[in-house]
Amino acid sequence: MKVKLLRYTADPELLCGAAALTSTKSGNPSDIFESINLEKARQTVKRVTGYGHASVIEHASFTFSIEEVSRAMTHQLVRHRIASYTQQSQRYVTYDTLKQYVIPPSINGNSEAKKIFDKALESVSEAYNKLLQAGVPKEDARYILPNAAKTNIVVTMNARELRHFFNLRCCARSQWELREVAIEMLRQVKKIAPSLFENAGPTCVELGYCPEGKMKPPECSIDETRKRFQNL
Ligand SMILES: Cc1cc2nc3c(=O)[nH]c(=O)nc-3n(C[C@H](O)[C@H](O)[C@H](O)COP(=O)(O)OP(=O)(O)OC[C@H]3O[C@@H](n4cnc5c(N)ncnc54)[C@H](O)[C@@H]3O)c2cc1C
Repeated sequence: MKVKLLRYTADPELLCGAAALTSTKSGNPSDIFESINLEKARQTVKRVTGYGHASVIEHASFTFSIEEVSRAMTHQLVRHRIASYTQQSQRYVTYDTLKQYVIPPSINGNSEAKKIFDKALESVSEAYNKLLQAGVPKEDARYILPNAAKTNIVVTMNARELRHFFNLRCCARSQWELREVAIEMLRQVKKIAPSLFENAGPTCVELGYCPEGKMKPPECSIDETRKRFQNL
């Protein structure tokens, strides 16, 4: 799994801070943007988003390349609708089943499970290649490919949607592969724009309690989670 922040809106904190001040200042947004400094922008972003006016951070967008992840993971990722996606196509790219797959740690660390997994992949690989040789187009041969199939995807989200995505997907209840990706995305954007992502992470980091109720994993400590994400 690789997560790379490819591009982001230039000066994201200055931009969102200036946008926030536009609502209360009589001057032009362009003049506000030219005169605002980073400290003032950060204070403004924190104050205004603290009121719950989160739309001001929608002006900053972040584009990631997420590489060598499973189709199981990207299927969950693309459920987040306030985002843009471009994914490697199994219609155009021939898939090498025996090389391009993600193996979950629970299978990799269990020799019996690993044997079953490897055998199934070999069987899929053989069938996929035979279908292609029989003249079946890639777009149809792919119907037998597994959820483990590796893929690449480019994702763009604005800071407000990213915070929502982090609430759900950095959480211990989220599926492990998507959680790893989400935490790495958060780590990278926090460095670029700390005020936009202050207290970002699982919902409990912001709220101080777990909204999952009875579904909260017993080993999950809210205090430790908050410390971990505040220092990420
Ligand atoms: C732990 C976990 C378990 C899950 N289990 C399942 C499962 O078993 N089955 C399943 O199908 N899904 C499951 N999901 C996916 C989940 O239901 C959501 O589809 C996914 O997390 C996207 O979240 P979202 O809709 O809040 O966010 P986004 O699509 O990112 O949207 C962001 C926000 O915009 C608003 N919004 C977006 N679109 C609309 C709209 N059409 N109408 C009104 N408001 C809108 C909402 O406020 C929404 O929260 C699970 C997710 C998690 C984190």
